[in-house]
Amino acid sequence: MVVEAEKTRFDRYLAEAREAMSKRAELRSQVRKLKFDTIAVHGMYSVEEAFSTGQGGVIEGIYPSTSQAYRDSDEMEAGLSYQIPTWCYSRIHNPTIFALEETLALLESYGCEADATGLCTSSGMSAIKQAVEPFLACSAPGEPVSFVAGAQVYGGTFQLFNIRMRERGAHVRWVKQPWLLEEWEAQIDDSTRFLYVEMPSNPTQVCADIEAVAALAHKHEIPLIVDSTVATPVLMRPLVHGADVVVHSLSKTVGSGGFAIGGAIIARHNLVSRHLEDEARADFALWLKLWPFRDSGPCMSPYSAFMFLNELRSIRMKVDVMSRNTLEVARFLDGHERVESVDYLGLENHPLHALGNRYLSMVDDGRPAFGHLMGFTIRGTAGDARTFFDALQRIFRATDLGRIKSVATIPAISTHQQQGDEGRDLAGIPPTMVRLCVGAEHPEDVIADLDQALAAI
Ligand SMILES: *Cc1c(COP(=O)(O)O)cnc(C)c1O
Repeated sequence: MVVEAEKTRFDRYLAEAREAMSKRAELRSQVRKLKFDTIAVHGMYSVEEAFSTGQGGVIEGIYPSTSQAYRDSDEMEAGLSYQIPTWCYSRIHNPTIFALEETLALLESYGCEADATGLCTSSGMSAIKQAVEPFLACSAPGEPVSFVAGAQVYGGTFQLFNIRMRERGAHVRWVKQPWLLEEWEAQIDDSTRFLYVEMPSNPTQVCADIEAVAALAHKHEIPLIVDSTVATPVLMRPLVHGADVVVHSLSKTVGSGGFAIGGAIIARHNLVSRHLEDEARADFALWLKLWPFRDSGPCMSPYSAFMFLNELRSIRMKVDVMSRNTLEVARFLDGHERVESVDYLGLENHPLHALGNRYLSMVDDGRPAFGHLMGFTIRGTAGDARTFFDALQRIFRATDLGRIKSVATIPAISTHQQQGDEGRDLAGIPPTMVRLCVGAEHPEDVIADLDQALAAI
């Protein structure tokens, strides 16, 4: 008798969950039809939800609770066996973080036929590590394992791939000119688990033909993973072009206010990989969350998620203004006698301008826009570059990127210091290079600061 009654209660929870999930799926398909800005501003938070569970709040509530309480043993059992959706414990799942994950997934898959799921992580580096690790698992001892990556990657990614991954037997093969498909092709063999590219790359503004590289990856039944931190979904959505997984450092342009570290993985459903089991391929980001991510623990804080979500609402305006400012500053530097060269995809003289132009533009209206990261080299010595750098008065000297405030760094002594001369050569980073991220100040004031600092050389 008792067993029967409990079974009924358990089944009731399952039925309740099925109904809630089907309502959510219906809402999601409605939201997917909205324009980019509307999705960025509202996410999945509806007027109906505001009145049912949100106390009428115009803005989503923040839920810092570490765990969720259950009504009874049946609901607990159903939740912890993943038979019903549950927040259970904030290392795994949390309502505030989930709101950010849903919005990011909707924005990254905007205009893409395939649907996608998002997973937020404690940092961009943990997003990259979590995203690549499952593909590198060995099925037999001594089995050779490798992956192919564009050489122009963020310093932390270079270290992760070159040192940490090698330590565990996964060998990175670098593609020096990622815009040439032959170079990718030449590095792939039976041991290759995935292809990886950062675009546009930091700081040298390198691009790849994502569509062609994705097609090449799929021919070998492996996925393409793209670090799209610098572009943000405002300028480029790699999933639309065939990429399987997108990784982000939210610490940068998405969190342009510079208040928290965070990362995200957005993966298409049914991604291509002959190395993963079906369940993992079907919804990679969800599978990561429920298993490997849960067991490793690199979760985001709900407080950070709440702030990233707020920044995301105005992402398009910021990327637009900062892209326009950067182009103006790049044009100024390009004509300056103390500047040797400027790396900015938005300049017509950049060797990859045409390729960049194909992939980077303002979402919805299609205006060309290239983001707010650029590099330039000082005409002179490494010492001259430091003299210029030390003379900056308003532009902050920081190993930072994507800020609402202009920031500059010398990569050779900061972000790319640990990879040594050889690694810097590979990534094309001379000691006279300055990385500049133009913020939302008036460009004339940024130019004035650069001008007086260049005069100090
Ligand atoms: C900063 C950065 C990362 C690493 O992100 P963190 O949030 O600092 O861990 C990865 N990729 C790119 C392109 C970055 O700029």
